[in-house]
Amino acid sequence: MTEIATRVDLALLGIRVEVPVRRRSGAGPSDDGHVLIGGAGAAIPLRWDSPYTLRGDRLLLEGTDLGVTVEPVRRPHFYDLSTADGVSYEKIARLHGKDVLATTVVQTCIRYAEDQRCRFCAIEASLEAGATIAVKRPEQLAEVAAAAVRLDGVRQMVMTTGTSAGKDRGARHLARCVRAVKQAVPQLPIQVQCEPPGDPAVLSELRDAGADSIGIHVESLDDRVRARWMPGKSTVPLSEYRSAWREAVRVFGRNQVSTYLLVGLGEDPDELVSGAKELIRMGVYPFIVPFRPLAGTLAVDVDGALAPEPERLEAVTRAVAAELRRAGMLGVAQKAGCAACGACSVLQSAGG
Ligand code: SF4
Repeated sequence: MTEIATRVDLALLGIRVEVPVRRRSGAGPSDDGHVLIGGAGAAIPLRWDSPYTLRGDRLLLEGTDLGVTVEPVRRPHFYDLSTADGVSYEKIARLHGKDVLATTVVQTCIRYAEDQRCRFCAIEASLEAGATIAVKRPEQLAEVAAAAVRLDGVRQMVMTTGTSAGKDRGARHLARCVRAVKQAVPQLPIQVQCEPPGDPAVLSELRDAGADSIGIHVESLDDRVRARWMPGKSTVPLSEYRSAWREAVRVFGRNQVSTYLLVGLGEDPDELVSGAKELIRMGVYPFIVPFRPLAGTLAVDVDGALAPEPERLEAVTRAVAAELRRAGMLGVAQKAGCAACGACSVLQSAGG
C-alpha cells in the first residue's frame, strides 16, 4: 500500500488509540485525534472499529507493522490556565495538529435552524456540551494566544466564526480579534475564515487588522449539492464567492486564499477536479477534505450519510495535488491556516 493510500485510509477509517488531544465539534470538519504521522500533523478520527491500531508508536494494520511512526500530540500546557474571570483557556482556543491554535470566535450561527443548517456541521454542539463559550472577546484571545506561544511553541493561529446576522456575516468581529492578538503576539501568523462578507471592503479591513491569510469556504461548487447539504449557506450564490475570492487574492495575495472542497457529498469527481483547477487559476488553494460522518450532525443522525470510498478520495486528492504542484501553489507556502497545517487533508502527503 502506498503512503498516500495509507493516509487516505487513516483519514476515513480512523485509528484505535487513546489520544490525549482531541476535539469535539469545534473549528474544522470532524471529531479527531491529533497525531503526528512520520512527524507531520494529522487529524485522524478515533474509532473503535478501525483496522489500524498503535503498538507503542508503531502503526499496525490488522496486526502487521507498517513501519510508520505515529505519536499522539501531547496536551498543551496552556489548557491548564484560566482568565482572571475564571474562563478556562481550553474553552477559548484549542491546539490543532502539532502547533496550530484554533478558535471559533462566535460559536453560534444564524443558519443553525434545522432546515437551514449545513448537514455536516455541529458548531453549536460543543457550546451545548459546555466545552466552549459562545463569544470569544478579543482580549481573551490575545491572552490565550500569548500563553500558547510562550508555553507550547504555537506557530500559527486559525480563527473561524459562525455566521452572524450582520451584513458582514461576522467578519468585523474577526477583524477586532485579529487586531488584539497581533498586538499581543505580532509574530504569530493568523488565518481568518468566514463567508463572503457582504461588503468586499471588509476583506481589506481583515488584512489591515493583521490577518495573513483567509479561508472563504464554499465546501462544494455544485449548486445541487449545495442546496441539499447547505440549504442556508447556498442562498449565497457562487458568483458572490467568486467575487470574494478574486478580491481576497488581490488583498492577501496568490495562494494566501483558500477554500474547503469536501469529497463525498455526491458530487461528480471530474467536475470537482475541474472546479479546483479554476480556483487554482484564480490563485485560490482548494483544500480537499473528506466528508466525515460526525455524530450530532444531521448528515449522520437523520440522513445516515457515510464517508466517501477511499479510491474516490485518493483519486481527487492526487489530481488536485498535481495541479497545485504545477501551479507552484503549495499548502506549506501559506502563512497560516488549514492549507498550511494540512492535518485534515491528504493533499500535503500527495505533494500539494
Ligand atoms: S487543517 Fe489543521 S487548522 Fe485546519 S481544522 Fe484541520 S487541524 Fe485545524
